[in-house]
Amino acid sequence: MKQKNLLYTGKAKSVFRTDVKGKLIVEFRDDITAFDGGKKDTLKNKGSYNASVSAFFFSHLEKNGVKTHFLEMLDDHRMLVRELSMIPLEVIVRNFAAGSIVKNYPFKEGSPLKPPVIVIDYKDDSRHDPMLNDDLIAALRLVTPAELKKIKVIALKVNVLLSKLLAKQGITLVDFKIEFGRQGKTIYLGDEISMDSMRLWDKKSGESLDKDVYRFNKGDVMVTYNQVAARIINNPKSATSKKIAALTKKILIVKKGK
Ligand code: 5GP
Repeated sequence: MKQKNLLYTGKAKSVFRTDVKGKLIVEFRDDITAFDGGKKDTLKNKGSYNASVSAFFFSHLEKNGVKTHFLEMLDDHRMLVRELSMIPLEVIVRNFAAGSIVKNYPFKEGSPLKPPVIVIDYKDDSRHDPMLNDDLIAALRLVTPAELKKIKVIALKVNVLLSKLLAKQGITLVDFKIEFGRQGKTIYLGDEISMDSMRLWDKKSGESLDKDVYRFNKGDVMVTYNQVAARIINNPKSATSKKIAALTKKILIVKKGK
């Protein structure tokens, strides 16, 4: 598999063509940004932590019947994926009130949302990702009503699967953002699922284990990412875990010793 020309550069990932039709390479860079790019840094190994956690989650979801773009890890920060035509929606599932819904609505931080709340934003940084509703999504012809229904069902399934997986490691899945794309008529989960796109709280201490550490200067974000990646991936019982842990072993062990 040869990496070919750069197709797209985002805030933390770059996408490359390959010599195989329908397959792309996603490179997770060491860049971290927040507040629509208003805060930026480059932090060593950050790309690898997010790539390995994403790969682990995608593999777990695939095993449980969720179609994702993930094919395989090429090294600790590059994954081979199915080429998708991305849908400009940010699908957010919330189990507890935090972040923008606490800012914008009268929710108390940390209050449980039962059933979980799905919020869908229009992915456009220049417009600050405005929130959509079903009518706007239909009027903008972003997806058909049947596709929207399917996307919501998949989002809730991802929520159940990841909440259970993380609970076993003593982590609460507060909320997360996912993105979808199409290959033909089939909808796949694309992009990434990592500490950059989720809110994770330690079940015992309540401390943040995600990008909020960087957003709000709560501590050393790389120490947090290292610890949470090790906690999520290092499951000796899982074959996927072993494979992905082997790729990231070097960085996880180096940082673990700190
Ligand atoms: P909030 O709306 O509270 O800012 O974000 C809700 C959840 O979705 C958080 O876990 C946050 O990390 C994720 N999220 C929302 N918008 C974006 C985005 O533009 N990029 C990424 N990576 N995650 C987002």
